[in-house]
Amino acid sequence: MSGWQRATVVGARAETASARTLRLQVEGWPGHLPGQHVDVRLTAPDGYTATRSYSIASAFDGAAGGDEIEISVEEVADGEVSPYLVQVAAVGDAVEVRGPLGGWFVWRAAQPEPLQLIGGGSGVVPLMSMVRGHELAGARAPVRLLYSVRDPASVYYRDELTRRAAEQPGLQVDFAYTRTAPPSWDGVVGRLDGARLSRWTWPVDAEPTTYVCGPTGFVEAVADELVRAGYDPRRIRTERFGPSGS
Ligand SMILES: Cc1cc2nc3c(=O)[nH]c(=O)nc-3n(C[C@H](O)[C@H](O)[C@H](O)COP(=O)(O)OP(=O)(O)OC[C@H]3O[C@@H](n4cnc5c(N)ncnc54)[C@H](O)[C@@H]3O)c2cc1C
Repeated sequence: MSGWQRATVVGARAETASARTLRLQVEGWPGHLPGQHVDVRLTAPDGYTATRSYSIASAFDGAAGGDEIEISVEEVADGEVSPYLVQVAAVGDAVEVRGPLGGWFVWRAAQPEPLQLIGGGSGVVPLMSMVRGHELAGARAPVRLLYSVRDPASVYYRDELTRRAAEQPGLQVDFAYTRTAPPSWDGVVGRLDGARLSRWTWPVDAEPTTYVCGPTGFVEAVADELVRAGYDPRRIRTERFGPSGS
């Protein structure tokens, strides 16, 4: 497949101790839908290349020019690509990107039904694009984001999510902690099971479209619970962040 474009790193900020958001300028970027991803290709001086997929965290704002996208990358120990993007890539550096890619795990602002977003770890990235796109489009569908993290220090976009939860019309944000919770939190620490899911998600009869993203095991466990609880499988869309690339 062709379609590689040069992308310049124009901004970088830490999300957590092991994750970083990179802002990339891609000349002629055609725009994207919330939920889509790009392939990122790195080329070594000897010509060796490595390609990996990364979801787009930003929403496309055509009115603002729109040739910049953000990706958020979690460092995988011993990985080929993620340690470079998290530790090494600097403003002014160039990489190549191909995209936007993906046509199923996308949300369109015209969708009228309630939106249920369930993310585990870095799986929150494409869901953040949906939250941002929802506001940008002035969409009316109510949105719930359930974000499962190990501990409070692992939360991406912490300040922005706190602000949006207070200010963005129709948005509700809930956290689930699998190892350590803040002292003020009133839930039970542990993996998302049926009881926790039903507490923090739309009821079945609200007929939401649900987007589940994260590590493969997380996505499969959550999707199974949702089906068991009676949600229509045709309205459950999943994206697995397993190993990718070449
Ligand atoms: C559609 C899609 C979207 C994605 N979006 C994001 C994103 O927004 N942010 C993000 O951080 N990642 C995302 N990923 C995962 C990403 O593509 C890479 O797989 C990840 O960054 C690891 O690449 P690496 O080169 O560092 O590790 P590799 O060199 O590929 O792998 C090193 C070792 O780690 C294991 N490994 C590889 N990937 C993972 C993983 N995800 N979790 C645990 N172990 C792994 C491998 O099996 C191997 O043993 C996405 C994947 C897909 C398929």
